[in-house]
Amino acid sequence: MTQVHTRPPELVPHVAGDLPGPRSAEYLEHQRRWESNARAYPRNLPIAIAEAVGSHVRDMDGNVFLDFLSGAGVLSLGHNHPELVRAATAQLGVLTHGLDFPTPAKREFIDAQLSMLPAGMRERMKLHFCGPTGANAVDAALKLCKTATGRGDIVSFQGGFHGSSHAAMALTGLVSQKRPIANGMPGVHFFPYSYCARCPLGLSPNTCETNCVAYLERALQDVNGGLPLPAAVVLEMVQGEGGIVPARREFVRRVRALTRKLDIPLVVDEVQTGCGRTGRWFAFEHFDIEPDVIVASKALSGMGLPVAVIFYDERLDTWAPGAHSGTFRGNQAAFAAGAAAVRIVRRDDVLGNVRRRGAQLSDRLTMLRNNPWVREIRGLGLMWGIELADPGDGTPASTYARAVQAHALRNGLIIELGGRDDGVVRLMPPLTVTAEDIDRASLILAGAIEHCRPGD
Ligand code: PMP
Repeated sequence: MTQVHTRPPELVPHVAGDLPGPRSAEYLEHQRRWESNARAYPRNLPIAIAEAVGSHVRDMDGNVFLDFLSGAGVLSLGHNHPELVRAATAQLGVLTHGLDFPTPAKREFIDAQLSMLPAGMRERMKLHFCGPTGANAVDAALKLCKTATGRGDIVSFQGGFHGSSHAAMALTGLVSQKRPIANGMPGVHFFPYSYCARCPLGLSPNTCETNCVAYLERALQDVNGGLPLPAAVVLEMVQGEGGIVPARREFVRRVRALTRKLDIPLVVDEVQTGCGRTGRWFAFEHFDIEPDVIVASKALSGMGLPVAVIFYDERLDTWAPGAHSGTFRGNQAAFAAGAAAVRIVRRDDVLGNVRRRGAQLSDRLTMLRNNPWVREIRGLGLMWGIELADPGDGTPASTYARAVQAHALRNGLIIELGGRDDGVVRLMPPLTVTAEDIDRASLILAGAIEHCRPGD
């Protein structure tokens, strides 16, 4: 049986008056005055957060929201899961910071993480603890693969997102983020991803024969292809920021076969998809492949304490001592919470909840299918995207999506956008979300999509 939080009675979504409310407005003004112009989330979700529990967030004005953003996928077991809070706070009194020394909390974390890998991988994977962000772990994966292969080029995929550091950004599809930054990491080659709703090759799924991957296969094996053998191919199983685009099974399997054949390490970026988000511990398990490197971060502690790791095949372990160092690689409270999170995921069949609630969400979202502006509804587990586009010319309906997000917020639901021009509404509830909250969120979202007028 999945255990879910019993929600304190006052935590039912309700919003009184306009947003932001007066106290949130004060905080937002303070932020505007003193924080960076690069701040992002509160621009479209204009609230200041006072506290949160489970799937709910309360703002400074007492408004309560159902949180289907989950700290960008970090809060897998919801806000302040009591057992995780206990595990982390107990650890704080023992040891908080450990650089990369071995400690009991870290050892428990490592054993817990390895136990979640498919059986065939456990014995041959090693872990490296990175600076505590997904981007830093992506950087580490690139350095590992470059060192092990002696090669310099990287293959990445259009529409992908891998982080905001210089190197991770170089692998990211989002051109606008890269444009102002001269001299990004060279040697990254972008290939088409299996994004059938907007096929990068202009084909239709019925007749394409997965030409996106065929293009990569040919390019890497063509003596005149112009591309030296890369140090790594880096792939998301579901493009998250790219608009929740699950890769086609055939695509992933052929990328794996090709990289095996050519001895190119396959790096799967599971920063967003990992730790149960898709209904398996790692999303690559859906595709029956085994990668050479797994990048994981966001939900590793289950509660937002930062930690990031790469798991990699031990044959790649040729880098030197100190090759990827960093001061904050020993967050003991995050390790304690992460080990507890694995125990809870097993005990409470959280992955089963993800699959059941994911199926329920998928079912509820079918009510949107008749809307001509809904181009596609897609997802895996508990990451879902509703792509909104002009039914005439297919232009991403960015303004409409932004209006839907604002309307949902006013009705007590926090959701994020993504994809081309932010035309995709993204849903990422905690993995412990209840059936009732899925129903509630679906109704709020359907109301917003119905109420807002496309093209305004
Ligand atoms: N990879 C993927 C797939 C991501 O979704 C993200 C963050 N959204 C990152 C890497 C970067 O993680 P971070 O923001 O922790 O650096």
